Parts: sequence; structure tokens; C-alpha cells
Amino acid sequence: MSQPKTRGEAGAAKTPRAGKDDLILVTGAGGFIGGALVRRLHERGFNRIRAVDKKPLPHWYQRTPGVESWCMDLSDEANCRAAVRDAVEVYNLAADMGGMGFIERFRIECLRSVLINTHLIEAAYRAGVQRYFFSSSACAYNVKLQEDPNCRALKESDAYPAMAERGYGWEKLFSEMVCQEYTAERGLKTYIARFHNVYGPWGTWDGGREKAPAAICRKVIEAKDTGNKEIVIWGDGHQTRSFMYIEDCLDGIDRIMHCDKLIATPVNLGTSEMISINDLVSIAEAIGGVRLRRKYDLEAPRGVAGRNSDNTFIKQVLGWEPRTPIRKGLVPTYRWIEQQYRDRKAGRQTVRDIY
Ligand code: NAD
Repeated sequence: MSQPKTRGEAGAAKTPRAGKDDLILVTGAGGFIGGALVRRLHERGFNRIRAVDKKPLPHWYQRTPGVESWCMDLSDEANCRAAVRDAVEVYNLAADMGGMGFIERFRIECLRSVLINTHLIEAAYRAGVQRYFFSSSACAYNVKLQEDPNCRALKESDAYPAMAERGYGWEKLFSEMVCQEYTAERGLKTYIARFHNVYGPWGTWDGGREKAPAAICRKVIEAKDTGNKEIVIWGDGHQTRSFMYIEDCLDGIDRIMHCDKLIATPVNLGTSEMISINDLVSIAEAIGGVRLRRKYDLEAPRGVAGRNSDNTFIKQVLGWEPRTPIRKGLVPTYRWIEQQYRDRKAGRQTVRDIY
């Protein structure tokens, strides 16, 4: 069965890009990708950005001066109506999420993010929003295709027949469908990117929601600092993934959001450079200038055995794909986490993940 593809009448008429004085809403703006997107939009000269997140403002990872920043829970319908008022473009990056340690343990929290997209898209449609972006995930793919570390890369049609990751993946798949139907039935232009593991400075690096690249950098930094030259790796280290640097992710969001060939059409946004967790550890060790004894925790959450992004479709449509090699992108990431680690040790405020 092929993936459901729905293009409403909205696809026919060209919509100009938002102007510099048009209002742009970014949700999840207190988090990693949302915070980086707000900064990028501001740098590009957009004057009216509304940034919304349920976290209290002091806990946002990045706050861009001159941007309207609201602390608001978007699982509430009335809040969604207020957030989208006057918006021309909406980027929905709000979700309760984290690395495998979080999404395997807190499936209900992950599923409840369905409320955010459900209320936000309805409010966006009613408010006459021109473009609506939804941040989906590679976790929406059928897990049966990811049982081997050397499995083939996932192409967009592999989401169906559906057997998404429990909790988080099903929420993403359902919300994708909601976006597709708002295009098909009501003509709202929706854009759906399936992100594959995003990493970079200003991401979650501690506290239980961090993902593999940040967790491994932190463990290497910790081992160096404490002199305990051992690293605990979740699983057997043979699991494979591809990792996308944050700046590539931001480029991709912009390109996808403004490509009318991609209306209501889920597309992979990730690199196709697949590496094992063991290789990721070796890269972090090389950056830190240290070699550690590896201990494998086979009881820890490890996720699917293998996952990579097939970029045939995105290259065909956009003539572009994320390209930053992990060896390059992990350097600023490691350095940033090292600084956070030092700051925390010195009792200074660091990026925290408090809900
Ligand atoms: P993040 O956890 O750093 O940011 C998400 C933000 O959403 C958080 O700040 C959180 O407070 C906010 N949020 C949660 N529930 C909310 C609510 N009810 N109302 C308002 N705000 C709420 O995560 P991220 O890495 O920046 O991810 C952004 C989006 O990209 C999410 O939709 C995520 O599922 C998706 N995604 C991320 C990755 C990745 O590797 N980081 C991979 C696949 C998909």
C-alpha cells in the first residue's frame, strides 16, 4: 500500500512567501529546534515572530531579543486560537519528546501531543493561515523495516502499512494524516517533514530527554573530568542511525515549507550518512582526545536496530539534501556541551529541561 497522498485545491494557487512584516508563529520555541528556528528567522529579517512554548520563559533554551515570547500550553484549544491570531505562517515544533529513554518510557505523554496539532491546525485554518508546517519524525516508519542494523534506508512510502513506534511514532503518523486531510478537505497548505535525529548546540544534553549524540558527548566529557575512563553505551553499540546537524534542519524546514510540490506530502529530512553508535562514540572520543573502556548496557532502551534516511525524494524535489557530516557537526556540539558542563559545575545557569 502506498502512503496516502492528498493534494487539495490549495496546491493549484501559488502563495507568496511571508513578507518581513508578516506574523510568523513558532511553537515549541523554548526547545531545541524551535529556539534555533526563531533565531534564524530573526536573523533573516522577519520583524514579527511569535514564539510559544509551555515551559516558563527562564527555562527556554534560546530566547531571541525582539521576539514576542509566550509561555502557553498549546494542548488547550483556546490557547491555540490566541497563538495563531494574525499569523501568516505557522511552524509547529511543539511536542513532548526526547531520546529513546524518554519515548520508550513515557508513551502517554508522547501520544498526548496529538492535542497540540489537532487544536493548532484547526485554529490555523480558522485564522486563515497560509502555510502550516508539522515536524514529524522517522519514528513514524514501520518498525518491522528497522530490525537489522544494516537495513535499507527508509523511503517515504515505508510508513505504510503502518506499524509506527509505539506512542511517539503513532502520534506523528496520525498528526501527519490530520495535516493531509486539512489540505484535502479544506485547502490549508500543510507541509510535513520527517526529521531523522537532529543534533547541535543548544539541544537537550542531560536530564533524561537527551538524544544519543548529546548523551555520548556528555559521557565522554564526564569521563574525562572525573578520571573514570569508562563509558556506558545503551545496547550493544551496533545500532545504526543517521544524524542531522541543526543548521541543515533549519535549511530543510525553510525549503520544504516553501515548496508547493510538497504540500501535504511527507518528506524525509535527515542525512543519509548511516553510522553505528560505536562509531559515534569513537568520533566523540576523538574530539575529546580520549579513549574509554566501553561497557554495554543491554537492558537500557535502544530503539530500533537500524535506521537511515533515503533521500531520493527530497533530492528529486528540492535538488538538495542535508549534508553536514557527523564528524564536522559533532565538533561544535561537543564544545558547546563541554561549556555547559563547566558552567553547571561552576554553579552557573545552563540549558535545562524542566517540565
Ligand atoms: P524539544 O523537546 O527541545 O522541544 C519541544 C518543545 O515543545 C519543548 O520546549 C516543550 O516544552 C514544547 N512543548 C511540549 N508540549 C507543549 C505544549 N503542550 N504546549 C506548548 N509547548 C509544548 O524537541 P526538539 O528536538 O526541538 O523537537 C522539535 C520537534 O521536532 C518535535 O515535534 C519533535 O517531535 C520533532 N522531532 C525532533 C527530532 C530530534 O532529533 N530532535 C527528531 C524527530 C522529530
